Amino acid sequence: MSGASPLNCLSLQDVASLVYNPQMIDLHTHTLFSDGELVPAELVRRADRMGYRWLAITDHVDSSTLEHAIRGAVAAAAEVARYWKIRVLPGAELTHNPPDLLPELIREARRMGARVVVVHGETLVEPVPEGTNTMAIAGGCDILAHPGLITAAEARQAARRGVALELSARKGHCLANGHVAARAAAAGATLVVNSDAHSPGDLIARETAARVARGAGLAERAVAGVFKNAERLAVRLAAGSPA
Ligand SMILES: [Zn+2]
Ligand SMILES: [Zn+2]
Repeated sequence: MSGASPLNCLSLQDVASLVYNPQMIDLHTHTLFSDGELVPAELVRRADRMGYRWLAITDHVDSSTLEHAIRGAVAAAAEVARYWKIRVLPGAELTHNPPDLLPELIREARRMGARVVVVHGETLVEPVPEGTNTMAIAGGCDILAHPGLITAAEARQAARRGVALELSARKGHCLANGHVAARAAAAGATLVVNSDAHSPGDLIARETAARVARGAGLAERAVAGVFKNAERLAVRLAAGSPA
């Protein structure tokens, strides 16, 4: 094809992915810094190719690995920013920590440069310490991932503190999505849909994320709201202003 089409700097595959996967925002993914399969550059490249607008790198951390993983994510995000359009936010996912340590670990993660602090919530499929949801919210994390059977009081507290609750596209963690969606709606808490990707095949198109939200019982208007929330959250976190 020749001529002056404004799209001729894009391959057909690029155009197709923009059409079919517009503006995906995914604030919870993993790389080799924990148990993901890819180096950050490949994860980001694949997400970029799928039409992602925002991607957060949020590897599992505890107090002993936090510095290493966040330094790596910060370096990866800075490198990408110079070459690609996709916006990458460095972050971390505090995982299976003693709940009482969470507020301090959240502060420490931010000091190390994490823009997105996720806490690995009380999913139905892992023995996450009881009290994790409560202390993650009290500590003011940005996103409480797969919070399992979150209570009404916790959801209200999340709404007050501006902590987003996650609907997970990941198998197992997704089992309580319907419950999480109902609790969030009753409390007025913000919902986001994330892939929790560990492998290339885990990255999801925006339409898949929309289906995850619908599957959790959200009406169309609420599904659109989830993407608006995610965009607002990404912009705020990129600017470095936690709730
Ligand atoms: Zn993992
Ligand atoms: Zn995760």
